[in-house]
Amino acid sequence: MRTRFAPSPNGPLHLGHAYAAIVAHDTAKARDGEFILRIEDIDGDRSRAQFVAEFLLDLAWLGLAWDGEAVFQSHRLASFSEAGERLNAMGLLYPCTCTRAEIAAAATQFGPDGPVYPGTCRHREIDPRNAAWRLDVGKAMALAGPLEWLDENAGLKTATPQIFGDVVLLRKDLPASYHLAATLDDATDGITLVTRGMDLFPASHVHRLLQALLDLPVPTWLHHPLLIEADGRKLAKRRGAPSLADRRRAGEDGHAIAEALRNGVLPAGLSFSQGVHHAP
Ligand code: GLU
Repeated sequence: MRTRFAPSPNGPLHLGHAYAAIVAHDTAKARDGEFILRIEDIDGDRSRAQFVAEFLLDLAWLGLAWDGEAVFQSHRLASFSEAGERLNAMGLLYPCTCTRAEIAAAATQFGPDGPVYPGTCRHREIDPRNAAWRLDVGKAMALAGPLEWLDENAGLKTATPQIFGDVVLLRKDLPASYHLAATLDDATDGITLVTRGMDLFPASHVHRLLQALLDLPVPTWLHHPLLIEADGRKLAKRRGAPSLADRRRAGEDGHAIAEALRNGVLPAGLSFSQGVHHAP
């Protein structure tokens, strides 16, 4: 088996990331598997090499060693556009120029990422230059047929990617959206168990559909609880959660912090969103 920790270098890591990395690392080690590090750095405007350098130090400080060299999503842009072309040739994509504000104004449903795109451009003539490309989820589901996926904690799920509406797969400013890039990379990296936080649970419905459309191997998933603050919100750097790098530089003991997280012991004010995940 093989799993991964896949941080985006658009800010420093905090304790929530440390927990995600520990779950992935410990699960791999308990099963005699591999744990790889993938840097999800395709958002060129927001990704910083400085954060990547800190991530490597943070993981070493926590006592988490990854197998092989770290892999970088930005080195794989060609595979993302190839997959986009393939889906387009299947008649499953359409260009869209709607702004966030237009979508919010026209939406009648709310999904995991906010207002659900109501399909405004699906049957419009759109100049594809400067457009984002959306997946026609209804058409894609009709082609793929009923799909299931397995989460080790939540059990067998029926894929319902339509909860997101027609998701963007190729962004105007980027070669791929998170959904397309992560799904393709998990296949390229030979990931058999996708470990990540519960916040990305709904995304797996979309990823399962993409796997079916692109004939990719289907992994198992393990979505772990999140670290939340006293107000119930997810720990976030923008609300001032101290970074691992700050703790490291302040001389805190990374191995001890990792051990406490493993045992479900959290600093005052923090808790798990739903029970502690015990690595098998
Ligand atoms: N890069 C994503 C993040 O930092 C995680 C993606 C994943 O684990 O699938 O939130």
